Amino acid sequence: MSEDNRNVTETENSESKKSVKEMLGSAKEKADAVKDKANTAKKKAIMIGRLIKKNRRVQIFLVVVLILLIVLLSLVVKGVKTIKYHGTEEYKLLSKGYTEDEVKVILTMTDEQKRFLLSHEYNESLDDFVRAPYFMLSKLDSYLTYKKAYPTTPYSTIVAYVNTNRDREFYVDTVETDVSKGELMMVNKYYLLPASYEPADLQSVPATYAYDGVKLSKIALDAFVNLCVDAKKAGYTIVASGRNGYRTNEKQSELWNDWKDEKGIDYADQVAARPGASDHQTGFALNVVDFDDNLTSFDKTGAYKWMKAHAHEYGFIQRYPNGKSEITGFAFEPGHYRYVGVEVATAIHELDITFEEYYAFYIEGAIK
Ligand SMILES: [Zn+2]
Repeated sequence: MSEDNRNVTETENSESKKSVKEMLGSAKEKADAVKDKANTAKKKAIMIGRLIKKNRRVQIFLVVVLILLIVLLSLVVKGVKTIKYHGTEEYKLLSKGYTEDEVKVILTMTDEQKRFLLSHEYNESLDDFVRAPYFMLSKLDSYLTYKKAYPTTPYSTIVAYVNTNRDREFYVDTVETDVSKGELMMVNKYYLLPASYEPADLQSVPATYAYDGVKLSKIALDAFVNLCVDAKKAGYTIVASGRNGYRTNEKQSELWNDWKDEKGIDYADQVAARPGASDHQTGFALNVVDFDDNLTSFDKTGAYKWMKAHAHEYGFIQRYPNGKSEITGFAFEPGHYRYVGVEVATAIHELDITFEEYYAFYIEGAIK
């Protein structure tokens, strides 16, 4: 190889070395750039990762807050509900001691009765009395007292007795009856008429419809005549028995004293009223008999059956029914009828109660 050639080659060599160096340099630069990019990307990735992590924490935080809010809200709702429930009649009754069954029944009662039960201490008899027919709030203390003395007496019987004053002896704490009530005046062993009382419009019952000397108040007389006329059409001759319409206080006194002298006070009190306590003094009462058959007891006659079924249509009630002596104070008197007007007579007939029970609940009980 010549010197020149060698020089050329050397030059070439150094040049190629230079370019390799350059190439290497740029490659390194490129590699650095890639590395930078990679670093940047890595940093970004880390940042994103952190961001994601941060977001997840926020999400978890939000979910927790939400759950807490729901729990809190349900507690508040529950609390409000409880407060509301504590204000209900149901809760108040249950906390008074009534059973769930009793509460169910009480909730169907009138507002007045519910208020009454809520304002009183629990008593195991209270709701039974309130449910009994003809229950009167004003008499509850007396019902409870009676129940204590006679625990086996049914609630409805106690109500009937107390309402009609049977929680005390006959003729004890009597009052003067209110005659302004007219044909609805109560006269019995607790409600007395003054000795001087005499109806202003007494008239004699015509002989066709009565034995001797029967007088009645005009309104009762007219109704009785209508009754007799219709009974006759049905085949029965009903008449008023002698002197057993209006009766004076004096006459009643004689009657009762005669019985007393003959059979003693107890018997006299069963069959006759003491003066002032006779229904006959009102002028609205009379004893009827079957004109065609007054030898048998009146309650065995067809006329009696007719009276039982139709007397109320004319305003009359059987005043002393069978089995009701404990309330009326008098033995069964099949023929004793009392005028009270068609409306009240029909109600008493349909309710199948005594005048005493009707009077206590619908007449006196209605005035409060
Ligand atoms: Zn009589």
